[in-house]
Amino acid sequence: MIAMNPPDLNNPKTSALLKIKQTLLDAKDAPLFEYRQANKYWPVIGEGSHEAKIMFVGEAPGKNEALTGRPFCGTAGKILDELLAGIGLKREEVYITNIAKDRPPGNRDPLPEEIAYYGPFLDQQIEILQPRVIATLGRFSMSYLLNKYFLPASTISEMHGQVIETQEKYGPVVIVPLYHPAASIYNQKLKETLKADFAVLKQFS
Ligand code: URA
Repeated sequence: MIAMNPPDLNNPKTSALLKIKQTLLDAKDAPLFEYRQANKYWPVIGEGSHEAKIMFVGEAPGKNEALTGRPFCGTAGKILDELLAGIGLKREEVYITNIAKDRPPGNRDPLPEEIAYYGPFLDQQIEILQPRVIATLGRFSMSYLLNKYFLPASTISEMHGQVIETQEKYGPVVIVPLYHPAASIYNQKLKETLKADFAVLKQFS
């Protein structure tokens, strides 16, 4: 069991994020709400430092995540932790979330209507946390964010590791598309690519 500090309700970022959590807990109109309830799953909002410079955005919670309410706490999470350690970062120093906030059945890809529903919650998280770097994990969060900032998109195999500058209301932001850590489980070459791409993030930490 991981010891959690109680939320600091005097921190406006923390209370704004708690509002998002409450909205999602009560979101009967969410496309995956019934599936969540039927399986006694949690929505997975995100975790990490509320002062993080780097935000990681994955795809959707898996079973471990939906059972605990914590992002990237299974096999892919272990790889993410290793990749972070490789550039001298701990997960507590960054913020980790997903584009879809509920687990899709059988770990299938999130559907366009699910991304359309949950995407605005990610938009709010970005506005609240004001990260300087948004590192996307996998093609779904890459497409969503490039589209959000009207940036030209190509395939992840062409875009991974690039530093793409854009502008938020609160200031400049860079998007760094990365492969999803799970893609490297049985692919050592991709693991090396991920390590090299993570090294790009070091300059921002
Ligand atoms: N894969 C993701 O994309 N997100 C998680 O939280 C876990 C696995």
